[in-house]
Amino acid sequence: MDTASEPTWQEQLRDAFREPSELAAFLNTPLDRLPPLPRSGSFPLLVPRGFANRMRKGDPLDPLLRQVWPDASESVAAPEERSDPVGDLSSRKAPGLLQKYASRALVVATGACAVHCRYCFRQNFPYDESATSPSRWAAQLDAFRADASLREAVLSGGDPLVLPDSAFAARVADLESVAHLSTLRIHSRLPVVLPSRITSDLCRILSTSRLRVVVVAHANHPSEIDSSVASAIARLRGAGAVVLNQSVLLAGVNDSADALENLSLALWDAGSMPYYLHALDRVEGSSRFRVADTDGIRLVEELRRRLPGYLVPRFVREIEGEPSKTPVG
Ligand SMILES: *Cc1c(COP(=O)(O)O)cnc(C)c1O
Ligand code: SF4
Repeated sequence: MDTASEPTWQEQLRDAFREPSELAAFLNTPLDRLPPLPRSGSFPLLVPRGFANRMRKGDPLDPLLRQVWPDASESVAAPEERSDPVGDLSSRKAPGLLQKYASRALVVATGACAVHCRYCFRQNFPYDESATSPSRWAAQLDAFRADASLREAVLSGGDPLVLPDSAFAARVADLESVAHLSTLRIHSRLPVVLPSRITSDLCRILSTSRLRVVVVAHANHPSEIDSSVASAIARLRGAGAVVLNQSVLLAGVNDSADALENLSLALWDAGSMPYYLHALDRVEGSSRFRVADTDGIRLVEELRRRLPGYLVPRFVREIEGEPSKTPVG
């Protein structure tokens, strides 16, 4: 239950860890036991305290910590790595609006996130182009209006739920006014990293919308899912949303059959469903997270032996120019 004394989600976001040394101290892990930090930080550390609380104290190899800890190896791009690995820049329908697939287009609603994931493929996206200004949003909305083949608007980012309720509600209302749109999809890591963001006001915006709502959250490891996350998912479902999960296959985080199996089971228990397991996009400086496709295929085969079919995520890769995500294997 919310109580008056509990900090709001905005206060929790303001209070997130931004200094590696403070996070290390909170985790009782000396800096010299952690990977060396990069020299300059164009993509600084950002971790909400609630998420850091789910990390194991004193464990430099914690799978949640590994997702967010800046590493000196990030400043080295392997030869096959790109700043725009998935062809975002060539699929712009309008500034900040990407269409790669039939019937749905993706809005880069904001550049801001509540956590900085070190493997993120959009860390180099030109976010100045995103819909942070009213004129940009107007142009994106016009593009939806002008194309009757679009049934679904995907709000992504960055993280669209970082927007305050007023701005978020205005976007939803504008999309509702486009008669041929039937589905609103929200790609967000906030149900997992800042579950207090799923407020009753936000749920009211979703439950009163004429659009069907799909929330695709993002957890990679079972330890990310605690009771606060399960409550957030329950609130979203109570608002009528379908809640799915996408993960990225990450070395040292979830590249074991046990981790992936327990992730699927934790999602199920929390009221979510596995959707995609993404092969890592080749973004510059991400090589420490790379898992060979042959290993990924073997892991998913093992999952298929252990779990009911509906708890096995689709293992896919995004390939520039393809008409959908491409199954691996
Ligand atoms: C991944 C992606 C989608 C969503 O694809 P689904 O297969 O429908 O989940 C939509 N638009 C863009 C630009 C994407 O990258
Ligand atoms: S929350 Fe999503 S967009 Fe933001 S850094 Fe993480 S993976 Fe990237």
